[in-house]
Amino acid sequence: MAEASGFSRRKLIAMVGAAAGSAAAYQVMASLGFAEESPYRGPIRLDGDPKGASVLILGAGLAGMTAALELHQAGYRVQILEYNARAGGRNWSLRGGDTYTELGGAVQRCEFETGLYLNPGPWRIPYHHHGVLDYCRRLGVALEPFIQLNHNAYVHNTTGFGGAPQRIRTVKTDFNGATAELLAKATRKGALDAEVSKDDQEILIEALRSLGGLDKELTYRAGDTSSEFRGYARDPGGGLSARPVDGAPMGLHDILTSRLWRGLQNFLLYEFQTTMFQPVGGMGRIGEAFARALPTETIRYGAKVIEIAQDGHGVTATY
Ligand SMILES: Cc1cc2nc3c(=O)[nH]c(=O)nc-3n(C[C@H](O)[C@H](O)[C@H](O)COP(=O)(O)OP(=O)(O)OC[C@H]3O[C@@H](n4cnc5c(N)ncnc54)[C@H](O)[C@@H]3O)c2cc1C
Repeated sequence: MAEASGFSRRKLIAMVGAAAGSAAAYQVMASLGFAEESPYRGPIRLDGDPKGASVLILGAGLAGMTAALELHQAGYRVQILEYNARAGGRNWSLRGGDTYTELGGAVQRCEFETGLYLNPGPWRIPYHHHGVLDYCRRLGVALEPFIQLNHNAYVHNTTGFGGAPQRIRTVKTDFNGATAELLAKATRKGALDAEVSKDDQEILIEALRSLGGLDKELTYRAGDTSSEFRGYARDPGGGLSARPVDGAPMGLHDILTSRLWRGLQNFLLYEFQTTMFQPVGGMGRIGEAFARALPTETIRYGAKVIEIAQDGHGVTATY
């Protein structure tokens, strides 16, 4: 559709990226089908080099490093020109004690403890990024699970619940319970007779009872079932207070008007579904591992390419 109107998808993604940041651009890419499951099915197999051929690669991001490693292994002479003083490109980590000078000159000092780190670019490797996962395995980059959806975390809105943060699990369970109750009762009253067969209505009610935690009267209320999902006012324990106290569900009106339901679909998108991974010690470990796998001197750091020219004899890069 975008191309039919004379507006390319590439331009659209670039505009979204400029206006709303790379995360938004990535979402657009995903919805346009560009960020789908990787078609990678195993190591790239390149034929051997034409004798003595050499390749100049611009940029030591993961794309440049992948090209460099594969071409090097196929026998080419490879050189990378990289503007920064490190490999990895956008995929990097700032560590406690690091100092970083931003474009424009502002100097940032990472005053967090040694051993802690921040990933300023990417943080997450989805399970379907087969290529990156395989390079991590081959290059010995240890991975660990990345926990993105934490049911115990809070969602917050200054205008809902008097500004008090609420646990994701309580908002989610109570919203599901209340809406399942409404739908189950409406079904029982025949409100769906025109749309759903009698047999299917029975199964629908059974499903809503199970998924919404409803009782025999199709009501969502404080009890064992809801507490097992939303949590207890007092957890089961030992001794004199072993008996748990059920949590009291919040009212549908309060959930609706708080707008906290807006946060419930976070991290359910395909790109963010479990299981995701991260390198132990920060994303920067991937670029570092690529750089170690290449012969020293392959990457020329601090080399800013300022011109690329092509003529009948070849390509010249000026830096
Ligand atoms: C904030 C943020 C979050 C992200 N989150 C994720 C995520 O969670 N998961 C995920 O899979 N992806 C994520 N991405 C996307 C991912 O980071 C990129 O797709 C990937 O790092 C791009 O790699 P690349 O090698 O193509 O480019 P880059 O990493 O940009 O590498 C380009 C390299 O070229 C160098 N260079 C550029 N111009 C010159 C020049 N003139 N001369 C010399 N060198 C030059 C740069 O210094 C850089 O090292 C995120 C990106 C950002 C910015």
